[in-house]
Amino acid sequence: MNSAAHETNCFVQTSAETIEQRAVSARYWQLRLRAPEIARRARPGQFVMLSVQPDALSSDAACDPLLPRPLALLDADPKAGSIELLYFVAGRGTALLQSHAARPGTRLRILGPLGNGFTVVDGAEVHVAVGGGSGVAPLVYFFRKASFGNAPRTVILAARTKEHLADRACVEVPGADLREATDDGSAGFRGNAVEALRALLDGPLKGKRTAVYAAGPEPMMDAAAKLSIERGLPCRVSLEARMACGVGVCRSCVVDAKTPHPATGLFRRTICQDGPVFDPCELKEG
Ligand SMILES: Cc1cc2nc3c(=O)[nH]c(=O)nc-3n(C[C@H](O)[C@H](O)[C@H](O)COP(=O)(O)OP(=O)(O)OC[C@H]3O[C@@H](n4cnc5c(N)ncnc54)[C@H](O)[C@@H]3O)c2cc1C
Repeated sequence: MNSAAHETNCFVQTSAETIEQRAVSARYWQLRLRAPEIARRARPGQFVMLSVQPDALSSDAACDPLLPRPLALLDADPKAGSIELLYFVAGRGTALLQSHAARPGTRLRILGPLGNGFTVVDGAEVHVAVGGGSGVAPLVYFFRKASFGNAPRTVILAARTKEHLADRACVEVPGADLREATDDGSAGFRGNAVEALRALLDGPLKGKRTAVYAAGPEPMMDAAAKLSIERGLPCRVSLEARMACGVGVCRSCVVDAKTPHPATGLFRRTICQDGPVFDPCELKEG
């Protein structure tokens, strides 16, 4: 445990040690870090800001890229003091992370847990998670940990091809019906995540009050939110934006809202602090 951890409200800035990183498909890396203060506080749907260069290096290279990268939590084990992330290489920052994190014992600066996280929609008969890309981790963590009572749960995980889906063992949700969807039909439903959701709503879930939770690429979330609103179904989306601080200061991840913010009075929300999870009905389109 890092005694120098700096606690601010409910998140901490600390130094996390890599325990293990492994490839869980042609696309995804699963990274386990020792970060007890974060593991203790974490809730599903929250994220961390992770510096992609090893901590405590004094060379210029250690500061480049300067900004940490936001990554959602896939799991947190307070007893073991560890957290897990599931990420893919999108650009330079995540490529550097992937190479540094490959060495167990590497220390990385980390801030978290951040954001509001998911909560269960009250009164739904069925709960469906719809995810792809960077949205897989928060949905799997949420569906694993939240208490849905006896309500059935389905998790739809989508990717371009079978090779791009994360290994089932890494995303399995006990008690939930896990369905895969691929654009090319190489695994599960042939089509994208929202087409798979539509088929479910028009088929086995027809007429059921279904709560939809979506996370992943923006067009997918927009379409999932639109479909849910059209059907009068409650929906929650976990939004993404480039962000520099993760704590509502830099204002780089602001979205327009239909109602004033309870604290600032502005018709704005920060994805990092007020979100990343929102009811899309509360946000302005576009
Ligand atoms: C709250 C939150 C949670 C996230 N959780 C995960 C996760 O669990 N797993 C995961 O793999 N990724 C996740 N992401 C996305 C991840 O942060 C970006 O892929 C990463 O920051 C890219 O950094 P880079 O330096 O590798 O790429 P860059 O070189 O900075 O960019 C590469 C490409 O990715 C796009 N991009 C960069 N940052 C973002 C961003 N924040 N949102 C959307 N597009 C971006 C760029 O526009 C560009 O097209 C999350 C983002 C947010 C905001």
